[in-house]
Amino acid sequence: MKLSDIECRENCDIKNLTTFKIGGTVRNLYLPKNQQELVCLLNELDDYILLGNCSNILFSSNGYSGNVILTTSLKYYEIRGNLVISECGVKGPLLSQKVSEAGLSGFEFMIGFPGTIGGEIYMNASAHGQSISDTIKKCCLYDKQTKNVVYKDKSEMDFGYRKSILQEGRYILLGAEFELKRSKSEDIKTLMSRNLESRREIQPDLRHPNAGSVFRNPENDSAGRLLEKAGGKLLKTDNAEVWANHANFIVNCGDADSDDVLELMLKMYTAVKEKFTIELTPEIIFIGDRTEKEEQICQILYQKMQK
Ligand SMILES: Cc1cc2nc3c(=O)[nH]c(=O)nc-3n(C[C@H](O)[C@H](O)[C@H](O)COP(=O)(O)OP(=O)(O)OC[C@H]3O[C@@H](n4cnc5c(N)ncnc54)[C@H](O)[C@@H]3O)c2cc1C
Repeated sequence: MKLSDIECRENCDIKNLTTFKIGGTVRNLYLPKNQQELVCLLNELDDYILLGNCSNILFSSNGYSGNVILTTSLKYYEIRGNLVISECGVKGPLLSQKVSEAGLSGFEFMIGFPGTIGGEIYMNASAHGQSISDTIKKCCLYDKQTKNVVYKDKSEMDFGYRKSILQEGRYILLGAEFELKRSKSEDIKTLMSRNLESRREIQPDLRHPNAGSVFRNPENDSAGRLLEKAGGKLLKTDNAEVWANHANFIVNCGDADSDDVLELMLKMYTAVKEKFTIELTPEIIFIGDRTEKEEQICQILYQKMQK
């Protein structure tokens, strides 16, 4: 297989591929269709940013003068008894639906947000008392250092709250194997409906472009609670504002750019710091080429993560 066999869009605007509907021009956007194509890209490209469904990121409106790989065409999954085997690009809500039809419990939390399996394992995504790490048996990874495909058990994945070994940068998740529990289909469906219902009440859906929670919860507290008490719900910039029903969400009001969102994140961070002397850590990941002003804001917002 050659690099030139793989779908690549040159000078592609990534904006509409993100849930925030914010972004700029990417020099090369690669769309591998299967694991073989993805591994070929990982072997051949010196530098790249790899993304799933772009639902936890803020992409720079200045774009990115490099390579971006999107995994959303890697859609293969298989349900074998209690085991679920999935490629990294499979979407959480789809898999949640399919395993529920097979009478398997453990993925009910995934129904309400648009991540891929790769993005969810990277972030150790969780909601409603379940997390993706609960059901993982093993992961199939690409090791950037040795350029080999390796397997790691759950215990080697270094999972914690919004944490996994993938964040260290050495590995790319190609696929994963999960072990779920048998349960009654109606119980699973009831739980999924309840999860969706509780979201609808407080969170924006994707008709109001957003990228999920803006900040991580500090230990034993909730970022939403702190932001609300600090007056976060009233904060806005030109084209972005804090969601009226949940102070830890930013929505793009139509024509926001990355600058608008970062500026608003800084206002939210500052409000909590001034009221509680707590420095929140962003959950949303900022990606792409930065302006000088964006660089300055990132130095403040992402300082703890850089240490
Ligand atoms: C409306 C809404 C609600 C949300 N609710 C929740 C929630 O309840 N709980 C929750 O945890 N999250 C939530 N999110 C955030 C988001 O959906 C999750 O973090 C999800 O796991 C991100 O998956 P993704 O495929 O979109 O990743 P992306 O945003 O594309 O990428 C996120 C990070 O993962 C890395 N990555 C992606 N794929 C791979 C891979 N194969 N190998 C290595 N690294 C990879 C990327 O490099 C990037 O650093 C919500 C988002 C939205 C928009």
